[in-house]
Amino acid sequence: MSSAVTVSSAVPVSTAPSVLLPTYARAPVAFERGEGAWAITSDGTRYLDFGAGIAVNSLGHAHPHLVKALTEQAGKIWHTSNLYTMPDGEKLARRLCEATFAERVFFTNSGAEANECAIKMARKYHAAKGHPERYRIITFEGAFHGRTLATIAAGGQQKYIDGFGPKVDGFDQVPFDDEIALKAAIGPETAALMIEPIQGEGGLRSVPPRMLRQLRELCDEHGLMLIFDEIQTGVGRTGKFFSYEHVGVAPDIMSIAKGIGGGFPMGACLATEEAASGMTLGTHGTTFGGNPLAMAVGNAVLDVILGDGFIEKVAQTSLRLRQSLAQLKDQHPDVIEEIRGEGLMLGLKLITPNTDFVAEARAAGLLVVAAGDNVVRLLPPLIIGDAEVSEAVSRLDQAARGVEATLKRPAAE
Ligand SMILES: *Cc1c(COP(=O)(O)O)cnc(C)c1O
Repeated sequence: MSSAVTVSSAVPVSTAPSVLLPTYARAPVAFERGEGAWAITSDGTRYLDFGAGIAVNSLGHAHPHLVKALTEQAGKIWHTSNLYTMPDGEKLARRLCEATFAERVFFTNSGAEANECAIKMARKYHAAKGHPERYRIITFEGAFHGRTLATIAAGGQQKYIDGFGPKVDGFDQVPFDDEIALKAAIGPETAALMIEPIQGEGGLRSVPPRMLRQLRELCDEHGLMLIFDEIQTGVGRTGKFFSYEHVGVAPDIMSIAKGIGGGFPMGACLATEEAASGMTLGTHGTTFGGNPLAMAVGNAVLDVILGDGFIEKVAQTSLRLRQSLAQLKDQHPDVIEEIRGEGLMLGLKLITPNTDFVAEARAAGLLVVAAGDNVVRLLPPLIIGDAEVSEAVSRLDQAARGVEATLKRPAAE
């Protein structure tokens, strides 16, 4: 046994060609550990992590409360399956319901699976009411709902759909903010509208509040399910527990993931009792979803995020960050065009290529994430304070200067 361990650890990991599918353009940096908002490589280089694993590490790295919850659970029982009662899952579901519009919860391992559950639930709702023909779901241009066959069809991005066989039927996409097209798309087969209140991967486009209200009205008028994909916007990220609270428009079904696990893979589909009424015994399932490790961590994440003043502080930190970003934009008018987003889900819409900026930021020791529409996303852990805000802004300034320096260089380099 011990010799096998020695042999495998002796493989020169950094130089051997990767046998992973080359579906990601990975940056040549690997992190060994993390502390709060900092990710640290094996040689001790510290990066300020304003990507947080794409809005996942909501409490930063190695948060003591999460480490304790996970390690304590790891010493008890890891997995039981959904054939048995799971007290921590019951507890987490109840807490999610108490803090939201929801009355029913289904736990998953990922965001895409939470959306699959939302899609199935919306269809089943109508089928159980005697309308199986109502299965179509209207989605919005620029959407991102995941990478399963159904969720790529829902997201509607051709680059994710091409080459994977017939596109899953039942998704009708309309322009982002086009009332006439939306109304025209609603027909006798429509089951639901599905939308991210703020597009994440699509480039931090916020749905205008009047449009969210109108979606609710249209759903009520036509008997449609309103599905919010709050996988990226949820769990305190926008300065509210869920972003729909900013407008006061509640969905019938909501998918969550990313931040709820604080780095442990998990998601959930939340719904009203009415919306979930078709999901009866045996209609849906998962082996890993709601596993005791995930439930222990999910409860621990909520202990902190729903703690006194935590979300209010996220909103305050956001205001300070936003103000500094507005100044940064004024200082770098040839690089930054606009500041977007809400809470600690902010975006810099750039004039220069966003991927260059992400690389310059990394060279300045700051991790940020590219998004669609030439946007750079800032998704820091929600625990950051003034010190991290000023440090990030000074590193963003350095990144912008780096980009400006390349602009001034002669083109034929
Ligand atoms: C990340 C994301 C998903 C997909 O989540 P996975 O866990 O990668 O399956 C779906 N919708 C939105 C809005 C997301 O940000």
